Amino acid sequence: MDENQLKSSAKRKVFYITTPIYYVNDVPHIGHAYTTIIADAVSRHKKLAGLEVYFLTGTDEHGQKIEKAAAEKNLSPIELANQVVGRFKQLWQDLLIDYNFFIRTTADFHEKGVQAIFQQLKEKGDIYKGIYRGWYCVSCENFLTEDIPLDEDGLKTCPDCGKKATQVAEECYFFRLSAYQEKLLAFYQQNPHFVRPQSRMNEVVSFVRQGLKDLSITRTTVKWGIPVPNDPAHTIYVWFDALHNYLTGIGYGWNSSLFHKFWPADIHLIGKDILRFHAIFWPAFLMAAGLPLPKIVYSHGWWLKDETKMSKSKGNVLDPRIILEDFGPDPLRYFLLREVPIGLDGNFSHEGFLHRVNSDLANDLGNLVHRTLTMIQNYFQGKMEQPAPENESDRHLREAFNQTKTKAIAFYDELAINRALEEIWSYINQVNKYLADNEPWKMARQAEARPRLARILYQTGCALRGIALLIYPVMPASAEKIWQMLGEKTALSKLTYDQFQFETWLPEEAISPPVPLFPRVRLEDFLKEKASPTPATKKITKEAKMSTISFEEFMKMDLRVGEILSVEKVEGTRKLYKIQVSLGEETKQMVSGIAEEYQPQDLIGKKVVVVANLKPAVIRGIESQTMLLAADVNGRAVIPFFVEDVPAGAKVR
Ligand SMILES: [Zn+2]
Repeated sequence: MDENQLKSSAKRKVFYITTPIYYVNDVPHIGHAYTTIIADAVSRHKKLAGLEVYFLTGTDEHGQKIEKAAAEKNLSPIELANQVVGRFKQLWQDLLIDYNFFIRTTADFHEKGVQAIFQQLKEKGDIYKGIYRGWYCVSCENFLTEDIPLDEDGLKTCPDCGKKATQVAEECYFFRLSAYQEKLLAFYQQNPHFVRPQSRMNEVVSFVRQGLKDLSITRTTVKWGIPVPNDPAHTIYVWFDALHNYLTGIGYGWNSSLFHKFWPADIHLIGKDILRFHAIFWPAFLMAAGLPLPKIVYSHGWWLKDETKMSKSKGNVLDPRIILEDFGPDPLRYFLLREVPIGLDGNFSHEGFLHRVNSDLANDLGNLVHRTLTMIQNYFQGKMEQPAPENESDRHLREAFNQTKTKAIAFYDELAINRALEEIWSYINQVNKYLADNEPWKMARQAEARPRLARILYQTGCALRGIALLIYPVMPASAEKIWQMLGEKTALSKLTYDQFQFETWLPEEAISPPVPLFPRVRLEDFLKEKASPTPATKKITKEAKMSTISFEEFMKMDLRVGEILSVEKVEGTRKLYKIQVSLGEETKQMVSGIAEEYQPQDLIGKKVVVVANLKPAVIRGIESQTMLLAADVNGRAVIPFFVEDVPAGAKVR
């Protein structure tokens, strides 16, 4: 954050953060969870920093896709929306998401707010009626987006169903986006950090420089939407409707003092796929309405599925519920925020997840808390005695905490949450080393060493309190647990960073024996449980989550015969190979989790079936451009090879 922004947020003493509103034709998955967990961590951090926070999330409920999805389920659109909203709210509760308000675009006050702004811009001349010419898919009843290119026949193909679209013209309302091109460029110039990370800002600027066309913002073909005021044959199209949730969710049109207190938003947190809507259209709408613009649009990366057997055969492994069932919210929150800097893509693998949970949480932190509290229990019956004065190593531990606190807070402020956690973990390791160096267990039987023993355990207890404070934004449940185990009576959530002092730990009563903080799960057990065909019911419910696909959808997969050219182990992993595979005309690289089942010599020269048009992903820093097919036999990969010789590149269907 630059200096001016820091000053203005310090002056304001309020903080407004939003997630995108999630579309209700989808069930909540790890991507939704990720965005919302970031927003929650930032919001908890800002509260500890003493700010009054408003955290908004919600659902986007209009549009043709919802209408269709509801009809397929024999529901009305609002019934479908209600069901999905229930799932989102349940997940947020389970993930300890402490939002202030859940906005639904079907709420009456939202619809009225959008209509009021529409009317205002229409009167001003920024919205006008014109003719929209576009490509329309008759079977999907949907206009194609502009970015789809013409094919050889001069036609466009619908990306949803694969059928040819027809060119049509219909009357609709336009927003005069072209009039805002120069104003937007001037705004970006004055606010060069409006979009984060910086690379995304550059993308936005160059897109706007190429020229902006007026934006069609209504449809007559969509019925499930907000009607245009005084012209109800037209409904307001999704983005103009959805983006205004950031205003109506904070009181626009229904609570003016709330609205003026918190608007403009400090951070709109978004996925990179919706950057243009937030960094171009949204500021232009606000300029037109004469409202202040948000401070920051922060675009985070995506979580990709791993290439291991589990995710390959099932569409369900990225369902956060499966992890929540076994681990509860904190390990998932920690993993998602620790593993990858916000802004970059991450690769989710159960191996990576378990490694983090076992090593960082169970070993480093969980053990430290457990050992310390057990010693306090065993040597002092839970009641601290007068400690000896601080020696140099004690002082060092205290000072190191204060430095860690300053750094972690600065990183949290920058949304560099992974770096804040790195700092905190480096301190946790210092505390572990402090205990190892001071060897308190050797003093337990020497009466004259008791004051020194009391100091070591007191100092460690103070450090643990500090650690609880600093991990609270990311792991609120574990932080409160540690805090309470140390005999604190008021909740951490009521505290601020400023109020916390390292040496003010004064447990009034004897503290109770520790309870385990984090489950320790063996990878084999975890994978076995997730992939096991028994008990049958578990398997069936998890696989039942995969929906059927149409023949057209199946035909989108370009399956080919690939000849394996080379195989090498990915360093530092047990399961992964980097494989070069020839598809005849071209060679592709993939990362595949089959190293436990197959030796390189078993693979080289063999022909396998690969998905040739898979979107590339980065796995352990290596670009994986395709994947091979294998059976999942109780978690073990079995590759189908060809009995007869077939040419590399041949189509498989
Ligand atoms: Zn279509």
